[in-house]
Amino acid sequence: MLYEIQTYGKEVLRTPTQVIPEITEEIKEIVSNMFETMYAAEGIGLAAPQVGKSLRLFVIDLAPMDETEGKRVFINPQIHSFGDDRDEYEEGCLSIPTIREIVTRPSSIRVSWQDLEGQKFDEEIDGFLARVIQHEYDHLEKTLFVDHLSSLKRSLLKKTLKKIASGEIEVEASENFEL
Ligand SMILES: [Zn+2]
Repeated sequence: MLYEIQTYGKEVLRTPTQVIPEITEEIKEIVSNMFETMYAAEGIGLAAPQVGKSLRLFVIDLAPMDETEGKRVFINPQIHSFGDDRDEYEEGCLSIPTIREIVTRPSSIRVSWQDLEGQKFDEEIDGFLARVIQHEYDHLEKTLFVDHLSSLKRSLLKKTLKKIASGEIEVEASENFEL
């Protein structure tokens, strides 16, 4: 089942998310639908608030950029620390169609999470995956990538953001690996 992707301006993107106490059939169903929704939109990452669910959960599949990658499910993720190095990358977001901006982020993180079987992980991750995890984790913390931009940059985007919030600009599949 495809979910509707919630775009900039929707309250659910600014709503606190709940820890998932148990990986039930319902959670498995949500994860399956989130992958389906993400692939349909040609995204490489999708967080639960983006499909209207205030849960601490996101999915990632970097296979379009790296064929050694595949489906990854992050349940109750927690970023414990950030590395000292920073790097820049032009990010996009399925919830903020048409806008892409350079975002500076730590290039490595230590993160723990559970997978769909409930297995626990705690790893140091760097490179592009670390960036995507930080972007999706931000969604669980009610933060959007435009929040990381300078106030000048944000003011330049104001008009476009308003159009997204009013529904004038809609989500469409793009080839830009949106998150
Ligand atoms: Zn996003």
